[in-house]
Amino acid sequence: MSRAVSTANHSAVSAIDASGDTNREGAQRVPADHFGGPFGAASLTFLVPAITFYLWAAIALHDGQLWLPRSVADVLAMFPMPTLRAAAILGVWLVAQIALGLVVPGSLVTGGPLPSGERLQYRLNGLACFAISIALLVVGLATGLFRASAIVAELGPLLTISTLVAFGQALWLYVWGRRRGALERSSGNVPYDFFMGTVLNPRFGLFDLKFFFESHIGMGTWGALAVILPAAQLEETGSLSLPMIVVSACQLLYIVDFFVFESNLLSMLDILYENYGFMLVHAFLVWMPFNFTLQQQYLLVSPSSLPAWAAVLLVVMNLAGYVIFRDSNLQKQRFRRDPARPVWGKPPRTLKTQRGTELLLSGWWGLARHTNYLGDLTMALSWCLACGFGSVVPYFYFLYFAPLLFDRERRDHKLCKEKYGADWDEYCKRVPYRIVPWLY
Ligand code: NDP
Repeated sequence: MSRAVSTANHSAVSAIDASGDTNREGAQRVPADHFGGPFGAASLTFLVPAITFYLWAAIALHDGQLWLPRSVADVLAMFPMPTLRAAAILGVWLVAQIALGLVVPGSLVTGGPLPSGERLQYRLNGLACFAISIALLVVGLATGLFRASAIVAELGPLLTISTLVAFGQALWLYVWGRRRGALERSSGNVPYDFFMGTVLNPRFGLFDLKFFFESHIGMGTWGALAVILPAAQLEETGSLSLPMIVVSACQLLYIVDFFVFESNLLSMLDILYENYGFMLVHAFLVWMPFNFTLQQQYLLVSPSSLPAWAAVLLVVMNLAGYVIFRDSNLQKQRFRRDPARPVWGKPPRTLKTQRGTELLLSGWWGLARHTNYLGDLTMALSWCLACGFGSVVPYFYFLYFAPLLFDRERRDHKLCKEKYGADWDEYCKRVPYRIVPWLY
C-alpha cells in the first residue's frame, strides 16, 4: 500500500483526528457526525446521483428546463439504459487514461503532511497526459475516426454506466479498507463509511487512486467534454455559437491552469484529510464531468445567442476572476516558501503566530481571508451567464458551488481557529472580511 517517505511530523495531526479514538486494530475511529450522520450519508449516496440524473433529464428530455415527474414512467425515463457503445467509450477512455498515467514521465513530488505525519510521493504528469488526450481527441474528430455527436448521443447511457462504475469502485474501496484491518478514520457505521470512505490514500506504488481520479479522470473528462460538446454543435449546425465558445474556452483555461499547477492539489483538503469513498469517487467519475458541462449541454439543446459586447464583458469577467483566483493562490504559496518575498512590489506585512508559521496580511490575503474563493465564484458565474436567462439549469454549477465554497470557508475558519488559536482571532480582526472585500 502507501509508501510513506517521512513519518516525522506528528504534530501535524489535524484537529479532525484529534477528536477520534483508536479501534482494536490500531486505526483511528471518528464519530459519524458529518452530513447528518449515517442517515444523512445514506440519503446522500442516492440523492447525489439522483440530482445528476434529474439534471441530465432536464437537458435531454425537457429542453433544458426544470421538470416535475408526473408518472412513474417519467421517473424511469430519468435513468437511461446502458448501451454497449457507451460502455466501450467509457472503457477506452478509462483504460487510455490509466495507461497514459502509468507511462508518461512526470516529476516526482512529495505531498503535504497527512494527519499521521506521513508524506507520500506522487508522479505529476497530468498536464502531459491531458495534452496528449486532447490532441488525440481532436485528431480523431478532425479525421472522422469518431463523431462528437455520436458521443453526445450516448451521454445518458454514459451517465448510467459511470454511476454504476462509481458504486462498484466505492464498494471495492470499502472492502479494501475493511480487509486491511486498519480502517483510517472510520466510524464503524457501514452506510456512513461507504459514503465517506475507509481508506485515505489507496495506491499501487506511486499510482495513487484518489489523486489520479481527481486529476486525470475528474478534471480530464471535464476537459474532454468541454471539447466534445462544441465539436458536436459544429457537426450538427456547421458553426459554433458565441456562448458555446465563451463557456468552453473559459472552462478550458481553468482546466489547463489546474494541470499547470497540479502540485497544488497535494496540499488540499481532499488529498490530505478526506478518505476515498463514494462521495469523492462519484464526484470525480460523475459529478464533475456531467454537471460541470451542463452549460454546454444546455446550449446544444437550447441554442442561445450573445451580443459581441456581452461576450467581451463575460470574457473580461472570467479573466478578472481568474487573475484573483490564480494570483491569490500563488501569493500564499510563494509566501509559504519565502516569507520575505515582496507582495505587489512591497515587503509583505505578516502576523507571527505561536504555531511558528506566519500569516500573510498583504495582497489578496489582506483584503479578505479567502479572495481565492471570490475569484473561483466570479469565473463560475461568468460561465453560467453566457447561457442567458432562459433556464436555471445551466446555472446549477454556480448555485451548487457558491454554498459549497461558503461552507468551505466556514470549515477552514474553524480549522484555522483550532490551529492558530488567539493568533487567528487577531488575523480576523486585522482582515475582517471572509470572501468579498468590504462586503462579506
Ligand atoms: P486555501 O488555499 O484557501 O487554503 C486555506 C489555508 O491557507 C488555511 O487552512 C491556512 O493553512 C492557510 N492560510 C489561510 N490564511 C492565510 C494567510 N493569511 N497567510 C498564509 N496562509 C494562510 O484552501 P482551499 O484548498 O479550500 O482552496 C484552494 C483553491 O481551490 C481555491 O482557489 C478554491 O477556490 C479552489 N477550490 C476549487 C474547488 C472546485 O471544485 N473547483 C473546490 C475547492 C476549492 P496553513 O496556515 O496551515 O497553511
